[in-house]
Amino acid sequence: MPEAPPKVPLVLAPTPLHKLPYFSQELSLDLWIKRDDLTGFAMGGNKGRKLEFLIADALARDAEVVVTCGSTQSNFIRQLGAACSMFGLRCVAAVMDTPFDGAAGKPLKKHVGSRGGNVVLDEILGVELHRFPDDDWEVLYGHAAALVDQLPNAYSIPVGGSSPLGAYAFYEAAKELKESTFDWIIFASSSGSTHTGLAYAFDGTPTKVLGIACDPEPEITADFAEIGEGLAALIGHRHTLRSSEFLMDFGSVGGGYGVFTEESQAAISEMARREGIFLDPVYSGKAFAGLMRQAGSGEISGKVLFWHTGGLPALFAH
Ligand SMILES: *Cc1c(COP(=O)(O)O)cnc(C)c1O
Repeated sequence: MPEAPPKVPLVLAPTPLHKLPYFSQELSLDLWIKRDDLTGFAMGGNKGRKLEFLIADALARDAEVVVTCGSTQSNFIRQLGAACSMFGLRCVAAVMDTPFDGAAGKPLKKHVGSRGGNVVLDEILGVELHRFPDDDWEVLYGHAAALVDQLPNAYSIPVGGSSPLGAYAFYEAAKELKESTFDWIIFASSSGSTHTGLAYAFDGTPTKVLGIACDPEPEITADFAEIGEGLAALIGHRHTLRSSEFLMDFGSVGGGYGVFTEESQAAISEMARREGIFLDPVYSGKAFAGLMRQAGSGEISGKVLFWHTGGLPALFAH
């Protein structure tokens, strides 16, 4: 067993795990929720776990500035901003309001706003946002790489914190479920380290790990397979998962990343009104809408876990 990578403590773990009484009955499932919206760190969300390892790595490499990229309304950049300022690191991020997949083109429908929400929090935290006009994700990655070249002692973190270390955080987080075994684990999947970590944690078990896609690129799981190769080396896992072994449901993406869908807006309302829990329009609302659809068509059954990944500040974006 290789040595565990170093970490700095940021989140209050284990996060709560509890049953969803209303939806269990409504969807004829034994439905549970894992509350990573309640990590207790910088307004919650799945990125805090990844940052425990990513920031430890940045500090071990004597970085002075951390550079990343994402959408203007990124939950990752908000949590990274908090972690950086706590450890005396500058936080620089290249952002676009609505980066898109070149093949699909720029979305035309109503999408999450680029003011308010996370941007307010980024300002409080002192994040240095470099704004660029909307374009393909690849162009955004290029802008981030150019910033890294300009800044001495810069530590670069890929979009969403999705490196093997980010995935390691979710490989570890799976242990919080202890002896509870689920037939399905379902969550919002985007840059892929949440999905990759969980998929490796349950590889070879009967538990099926299903991501609900928030981006329209069907080839996105090729990136997950690559992150997984790095993770497999970190944990000494013999079987490396192929792209096709990551279960992904693309049925809830709608008009693209960050684009509102009626289905997810309805899921957000129902979850808030019936269980007192908020979901967000970019990720967790689409994921829960996907779970409801899968339950309705009988594709999932039994004991199911919805892993809430956070994202609540986007509800206040305009
Ligand atoms: C980033 C994010 C996700 C997706 O997680 P990845 O590890 O990037 O796939 C899901 N939900 C929320 C709220 C997020 O901020």
